Amino acid sequence: MDLVKIAVVPGDGIGPEVCDAAVAVLRQATAGVADLSFEHYEAGAECFRRHGTAFPETTQRACLDADAVLHGAVGLSDITYPDGTEVGQDFSMKVRALLDLYANIRPVRRYPGLAIRLASDRPIDYVIVRENTEGFYAARAGGNVVRDRVATDTLVMTRDGVERIVRHAAGLAMRRGGAPGDGKRRVTIVDKANVLRSYAFFRKVALEVLEDYPGIEVECMMIDAMAAHLIQTPERFDILVTENIFGDILSDLGAATVGGLGIAPSAEIGPKYGYFQGIHGSAPDITGKGTANPIATILSGAMMLEWLGERPGREALVKAGHRIRQAVETVVDAGDNLTRDIGGSATTRQATDAMLARLDTVPA
Ligand code: ATP
Repeated sequence: MDLVKIAVVPGDGIGPEVCDAAVAVLRQATAGVADLSFEHYEAGAECFRRHGTAFPETTQRACLDADAVLHGAVGLSDITYPDGTEVGQDFSMKVRALLDLYANIRPVRRYPGLAIRLASDRPIDYVIVRENTEGFYAARAGGNVVRDRVATDTLVMTRDGVERIVRHAAGLAMRRGGAPGDGKRRVTIVDKANVLRSYAFFRKVALEVLEDYPGIEVECMMIDAMAAHLIQTPERFDILVTENIFGDILSDLGAATVGGLGIAPSAEIGPKYGYFQGIHGSAPDITGKGTANPIATILSGAMMLEWLGERPGREALVKAGHRIRQAVETVVDAGDNLTRDIGGSATTRQATDAMLARLDTVPA
């Protein structure tokens, strides 16, 4: 098998800790079946403090050259521009534009063994497909503050942008087994079409695209109602497709219903590139304490292997990704090596070691 180059961008806060854990698991899961290289590159708020940029050119080139990018987290609330926005976010926004990572795939899945205060015993297994290059966040650095009295940012949507994210969502629905509640393939379009033209446009274009997929049940839901439904009837959801900022917010909510930010992975995919990170931020409150949950980044690594394994000749990586999932599931079910955020007392190191040990027992 050819060399698979992974650019690792640990970033700020707990980013380096969770990236180290994920790289250890990825190395072990692929040993003997694939040749992966891991090169580390700087980006984020600390990087800005050191070099005056949150996304240096060397890192940009490395991301463009790599087969995939694995990321920890960026952003520190005390490193900001004069307007108050965080410098570290330059990396997240720019990497999405540079690699055209238009589909942000955020699975939300309940682990039966994990006791969560919020959740009932309903099954939860849906995917949030967040548009990642348009919407409100596309206005980053383009907004205005006038005379310290009025502030504006503009929400941007294009037909091409909406069509491609909805097609991606539909493709995902066709590959999954439907909602856990009733087994139906369902795409829920989430918007605020009753108030803003841009969201009405999103809904109209989405409905047009989904006419091409008769096997998928389609429904529309307002973002506010959606927030309630994710708590009250999560089992009826399969795929949610939505605008950038709505997807960001809903995925933190969804994560909270299954155990929190520490276990929620993501894959950001474009026509050519893939970029993988836990959905959490840099969590400065726990940085350096050795208590960060590595599961979100490890599962993002599994998504990375599954995505890389879609190329001919690299199928073994899909299996390696599945093995990582199985190892994580077994550790979560066993319950004795969980970090504090999900009810245990294990350190990042102990949780990672437990997953490495379990990997040995999952057949290759
Ligand atoms: P961002 O906006 O950059 O995504 P955020 O404001 O959502 O960041 P996070 O940094 O994700 O904030 O963290 C929110 C809280 O969740 C943190 O204070 C931390 O305690 C907890 N948390 C986040 N990630 C983890 C993790 N991997 N392990 C344990 N706790 C975590």
